[in-house]
Amino acid sequence: MMAETITATDWDMETDLLVAGAGPGGMTAALVAAIEGLDVVVCEKASQVGGTGATSAGTLWIPGNTQSRDAGFEDSPEEAAMYLDSLIGEDRTSEHRRVYLRDGPGVIDYLAENTDVRFLACGMHPDYRNNIAGAGMAGRAIIPENFDGRVLGRDFARVRPPIPEFMLLGGMMVGKIDIVSLLGRYQSLANFKHAASIVLRYLTDRLRFRRGTRLVMGNALVGRLYYSLKKRNVPVLFDAPIGEFVLGDDGAVLGAILDTADGKKRVRARKGVVLATGGFAHNPKHREAFMPHPTPPYSLAAGSNEGDGLVLAEAANAAIDSDRHHGAGFWTPVSVTRRDDGTEGLFPHLAMDRAKPGLIAVNAEGRRFVNEGVSYHDFVEAMYRSHETADTMPAWLICETRFIAKYGLGAIHPETRNLSKHIKAGYVTVADSLDVLAGKISVDPAGLQDSISRHNRFAVAGVDEDFGKGDLELNRFNGDPAHGPNPCLAPIEAGPFAAMAVWPAEIGCSVGLSTDPDCRVLDGANEPIAGLYACGNDMGSVMSGAYPGPGTTLGPAVVFGWRAAMHAAGHHPDEVVTE
Ligand SMILES: Cc1cc2nc3c(=O)[nH]c(=O)nc-3n(C[C@H](O)[C@H](O)[C@H](O)COP(=O)(O)OP(=O)(O)OC[C@H]3O[C@@H](n4cnc5c(N)ncnc54)[C@H](O)[C@@H]3O)c2cc1C
Repeated sequence: MMAETITATDWDMETDLLVAGAGPGGMTAALVAAIEGLDVVVCEKASQVGGTGATSAGTLWIPGNTQSRDAGFEDSPEEAAMYLDSLIGEDRTSEHRRVYLRDGPGVIDYLAENTDVRFLACGMHPDYRNNIAGAGMAGRAIIPENFDGRVLGRDFARVRPPIPEFMLLGGMMVGKIDIVSLLGRYQSLANFKHAASIVLRYLTDRLRFRRGTRLVMGNALVGRLYYSLKKRNVPVLFDAPIGEFVLGDDGAVLGAILDTADGKKRVRARKGVVLATGGFAHNPKHREAFMPHPTPPYSLAAGSNEGDGLVLAEAANAAIDSDRHHGAGFWTPVSVTRRDDGTEGLFPHLAMDRAKPGLIAVNAEGRRFVNEGVSYHDFVEAMYRSHETADTMPAWLICETRFIAKYGLGAIHPETRNLSKHIKAGYVTVADSLDVLAGKISVDPAGLQDSISRHNRFAVAGVDEDFGKGDLELNRFNGDPAHGPNPCLAPIEAGPFAAMAVWPAEIGCSVGLSTDPDCRVLDGANEPIAGLYACGNDMGSVMSGAYPGPGTTLGPAVVFGWRAAMHAAGHHPDEVVTE
C-alpha cells in the first residue's frame, strides 16, 4: 500500500469527514458528524449497509441509561465501574471505560432527540458474571425499537438481511417477545393475537418485498441508522471500499482513495477519515497472529470484514493494540447447518438451549468441562481450556430428543418431533442408547456414561457439584423457570439421545487499532495520527476482550462512534455531555 502525495487539484471529491464502513460504528459516527454540521461521506465495501450489526441481536450495554430508569430499573454507574474494574482490572483502556460509562446514557438520549435511532429498556437481563461485585441484574441492556423497513422504500433492499437461521417462514424476523408469543400462541388470547398479527404482516409484506419489513434486533438498529442518514442527506457510496490513504509529508491523513466500479476516486477529507470497517475477522494473517490456537474455524462476522482498516492504518504507522489480555475476540459456540439451497450456515448458540435443563456439553473423552449455562463467550473460553488436555473441537451438546421437542436445539426449533431432515443433513446425531451415540460421534462411551450418571444425580438433588449449572443468575435467566428444583438441571435418561457438534467462532474481534478515548488512532509512540479515527471493531475493544454483559460491542461502537464524530467536529466530548 503506497502513500501518495496529491495536489489540491487531484481530488475527485471533497468532504469534511470520510467514514469507511456502514456498520453500527461507522453509521453512528457519520450521523453524529452530520448533526454537528460536518459535510460527511460514507463509503461501504459491500452493496448493503449493516455489516455484522445487521445480523446481530442489536443489544447495547449502557449502564445507567435513561430508558431503563424510566421503565423503573435503577442502576448505578459506580456499581458498573466497580464491576468492570473487577472483571478487567486496570489497564490501558481504563480511561476509555471511564468515559464510556460516563457518556453512554447521554449518547443514547442524543440519538433519540436528534435522529430516528431509538431504544427501549430490555428490563431483566443479568450481567454475565453476576458473582462479581457490581454486576447488574436488570436495566443495563437496551434494544432498538422495532423498525418499519417500508419507510425506506426501494432502499429497503440496501439493508443487509439477518442470517436465514434467525428468520421464520423464509424471511420473517422474530424478537424474543415474538418467540414467546409464537410458542405460547394457544396459551392466551394476547399471545395468539400477537402471533397472528406478525404472521399476517409478514404475508402482506411478501407481496411487495423479498423479506419481511418488520425489523427487530440488529436489523432494526442498522435500518434506523441508515434511515436517519438518508433523512440528513448523507451519501453512502456502495461497492466503494477504502483502498488507500493519501498522506501529507508529516504523515497526517489528508484523504483516501476509494476503489469504485468507475475506477479510483480520490476523496479529500478535511477533518479526517474514520475507520469503521468492522475488524479483522476474515483476514487469515491477523487471525493467525492474534487469535488463540487452533484459531476458531468459523466466524459470524460479515464476509466483507477483511481487516482493511487495520492493514491501511498499519501502513500509516498506526499501532495495533494486541495486548488484549482477555482475548482477541468475542466468542460464541456455533453449529454448522446445511441450508435448503445446499450452502453451509452457522447457528450461534447464544441463549436458547445450553442453559435449559437436560443438556450437557462434553469433550472427546465424554467429560463435561463447563457450566453449560455460562455466556457464549465464557463457554468458548472453557472449550479452549478443555482442549489443552482433551479434544474439545468440536464439543458435543448431549440431550434427549424429548429435550429438542420441548426447547429446540441450535437451529432446530422447539416443537420439532421429526428430526429425520436434520439427521440426514448431519446436523444432529441420534441413537437409542448412549453407547451407540458415543460410537457415532467418536466420544469415549465410558466417559460419557459416567458424566451422564453424575449429572443425573446432581439433577435430582438440584445442585451441580462439578460446574455449578444453575448457580449464576444468567443460567437461571436462560433456564426453564417452570422446572425444579434447579431450572437448569434435569436427568438425561430416556432414549433416543441426541448429539450436536459445536465449534468456536467469533461474533466480533476485540483486538484493533490503538486509540485514545477520542478515537484518534495512535502510532507506535502513542501519538495521535492527525486526521485518523477508528471506531467499532476497528478500534481495540474498551473491554480488553472481556465480556461483561449483553451489548458489549455495540454499546462501545455507538458511544465511541459519537465521540469520534464529536472530536472531528471540534467539540471535545468532555465539554458537551451533561453529567
Ligand atoms: C449473531 C450475532 C449476534 C450479535 N449480537 C450482538 C449484540 O446483541 N450486542 C452486541 O454488542 N454485539 C453483538 N454482536 C456483535 C456486533 O454485531 C459487532 O461487534 C458489530 O456489528 C461491530 O460493528 P462495526 O460497525 O465495527 O462492524 P460491522 O457491523 O461488521 O460493519 C463493518 C462494515 O464495514 C464494511 N467494510 C469492510 N471493509 C471496508 C472497506 N475497506 N471500506 C469500506 N467499508 C468496509 C463492511 O462491509 C461492513 O458493512 C453480534 C454478532 C453476531 C454475529
